[in-house]
Formats: sequence, C-alpha cells, structure tokens
Amino acid sequence: MPEGPEIRRAADRVAECIAGRVADEVWFAFERLKPFERQLSGVEVSAVETRGKAMLTRFANGLVIYSHNQLYGRWICCPAGERTDTQRQLRLAIHNLTLSALLYSASEIEVLREGELASHPFLSRLGPDVLHPATDQALLLERLNDKRFRNRQLGGLLTDQSFLAGLGNYLRCEILFVAGLHPRVRPVQLTESQHFRLADAIMQLPRQSYETVGITNDLSRAHELMAAGADFEAVRFWVFRREGLPCYRCGEAVVKQLLGGQPAYLCLRCQLLTRQ
Ligand SMILES: [Zn+2]
Repeated sequence: MPEGPEIRRAADRVAECIAGRVADEVWFAFERLKPFERQLSGVEVSAVETRGKAMLTRFANGLVIYSHNQLYGRWICCPAGERTDTQRQLRLAIHNLTLSALLYSASEIEVLREGELASHPFLSRLGPDVLHPATDQALLLERLNDKRFRNRQLGGLLTDQSFLAGLGNYLRCEILFVAGLHPRVRPVQLTESQHFRLADAIMQLPRQSYETVGITNDLSRAHELMAAGADFEAVRFWVFRREGLPCYRCGEAVVKQLLGGQPAYLCLRCQLLTRQ
C-alpha cells in the first residue's frame, strides 16, 4: 500500500491539475454521491490535502471530497476530455476547462462538510500526519512518552495510524534501522538519546522519501551506486527488501521476519533490543 510520501506526491499532482481553479464538472460513479455533482460543479477547488493515507479535496463552498485509495485506487491527471487507456473503473472525475483529475478503482469516496471531518470514523482516529509541517521532534517525543503508546512494541506502534498517520511497512523498517532499534523494543525501555534518535529518523526519512521519490537510504550512497549502474529499486532502501544482502553499516546479512503479518527487514547486529 502506498505510504504517506507516495500519497502526498499523488496529492501534489492532483493539486497542480485542479487546485485554485473552478471545477466545471464533477462526476461520481456511485449513485449515493450523484446528488453532490450539482453542488460541486462550478465551485473552485481550494486545496488538495492529505491525512495519512487519505486525501481531502476541499471546495470553496465548504464541501470536502474524502478519498482513500487502499491498495488499488489511483489518480490520473490528463488534458480535459481525455481518457487514459485502462481497465480500471472510473470512480470520480473533476474537470476544469483544460485538465481532468480522474480517480480510478477507489471504493472509499465520501463527500463531507468541513464540520464533519473531526467526527469522521477514519479521520477522527488518525494521529498527526507524519509529513505535516506542525509535526516536529518535540511532538514526536511527547507521543513516544505518552502512556497510550510508551508500552507498545515499536514494530506495531509505528504503523498504527492513531500514533502517527502516514507510516507503512517500508518506512517502519527503514526508521527502525536508522534509529538502531529492534521492532520488539518499547519506547518505555529506551534512553532519552534513543528517543531523540528515533524521533529524528521519523522526521527525516518520510520527508527524504517524499523529496527524492522514494529513497530512504543514505542519499550520497544511493546516488553513487546509481552512477555506477545500479538499479533505482536496488539502492532505495537501507534494509527493506534486502534480505540476505549485507547491511550497509556492519556487513551482516539483512534478515526478514514476519511482523504483524507483514515482512519486516532488519539487521540483527545494528538493531538493538536493549538500552544504549
Ligand atoms: Zn548492521
């Protein structure tokens, strides 16, 4: 499933296409949403935002289209009136005079009023968005020390969207490696400096991934390896999907373990279960 940085980049593309412009026509595939077509057509799109893995398309009249792509949903932007050649089902189309933003395959689409966002079943459970400018190291340290979270194993905590919105499996693996922490360790077991290192990794890696279109590895190493002919997919990550390959820090083979039903990748020499 795409994680926060991928959703944010998709939102950026959709915003380039429709934000700040009047949506001349809005179309929904679902019958239950048809009544909103008239209320949204002819209204300016004021912003396209993300909340973790969900997207909010805000209109100037206070209505907001909530969409969550899950595994299959995909936004495509194209010149107005064009359709891309795809087998996917079109679910939502927002057209202005020159461009169209088309959402395919997503099944979670709703139209909400501004005041309904805070009580929405999914949105109301989300923690702070990991990429939001207001999410800083102090906020992360506060959450790591919060009694709701401090006794949880980091492996499960990091992908819990009520702790932080926007982290998924690859970011979890990469953050734990860079912080030097084993997935089974709990915040309450860590020293202050380990908390700082973890908060730094949570701040840095999703932002770097957003800016570099998916690189969480050390950037100069990734660029050197690519300059030497390595494939992008082979150099993106410190440990994710690198089972059996040598750890970039210590040379030990990266291992794969199941964590909450998902494969986690880690270096057992670099990622500690103890205070340090
Ligand atoms: Zn290592």
